[in-house]
Amino acid sequence: MNYKHILSEIAAEIEPLRTVGRQADYIPALAKVNPDRFGICITTTHGDVIEWGDVDERFSIQSVTKVFTLSMALSIMGERLWERVGKEPSGAAFNSLIQLELDRGVPRNPFINAGAIVVADVLMTQLANPEADYLDFVRKIACDDTIDYDREVAASEREKGYINAAIANMLKYYGNLENDIEEVLHFYFLQCSVEMNCRQLSRAFLPFADRHSEFSFGNVRLTSSQVKRINAVMQTCGFYNDAGEYSYLVGLPGKSGVGGGIGAVYPGRYAVATWSPRLNEKGNSVMGMKALELLTTYTRESIF
Ligand code: GLU
Repeated sequence: MNYKHILSEIAAEIEPLRTVGRQADYIPALAKVNPDRFGICITTTHGDVIEWGDVDERFSIQSVTKVFTLSMALSIMGERLWERVGKEPSGAAFNSLIQLELDRGVPRNPFINAGAIVVADVLMTQLANPEADYLDFVRKIACDDTIDYDREVAASEREKGYINAAIANMLKYYGNLENDIEEVLHFYFLQCSVEMNCRQLSRAFLPFADRHSEFSFGNVRLTSSQVKRINAVMQTCGFYNDAGEYSYLVGLPGKSGVGGGIGAVYPGRYAVATWSPRLNEKGNSVMGMKALELLTTYTRESIF
């Protein structure tokens, strides 16, 4: 497969979308990013790296981080994790309070904000040094020790994080938050603030594409079956209330973030990351979604 050629064709085709959509500005620090960026990087299970566009610039991975926090929590808790959080698509906005109330404090899945806040709480209870341990895992899975939190983004999100604070309060009310609300929010916002570029993100997703290699990064170990299940949750819940549309158009397990990043996998073959800050009304990257749609169309490679 000549991925290089396909990526350049895709880039030309999606160029008219460069100014379509709006970047997230409810996190003030994200509003400062140049929105007219686009990068894509494929890392194959054979170790080839194929890239196009703005692949060196780091961005805030935001909710893409939830794949890594879920991995860590699942490796520690196993199936018991699902007593605290569900694994059903939400069909609602990523920060819905109404749904959380209807579900009496048990979030639909670990990829909506409420679910990820519960996962952050689980990690805080289980780990001696959650901030350091999480960063260490992310660095190991991306094979890059320069990856870091962006504390300015995390602080900026906390400043305006009224809805997430309301979610955490509701979780506490329903008895589904063990630690101090403010400390859990701090850890959650830090996780979201992790910065990567497309090359690093596609590398970090590779272990989810390659179920034949051992998933073992420091203390975080998953069985091949657990990796399969994380892919299943990505497929059904990775794009909030756009998950059906994303499945329909793309057909690769993946996860998006409001920083404009997407990580996805074609199991057995490659991991791919895209970044473009302009989002559609559901909070997913316009150019990123289209690029992945064209990728699976032109290569005829998807899980369906
Ligand atoms: N930190 C963001 C929030 O909690 C993550 C949302 C996202 O990337 O979809 O609102």
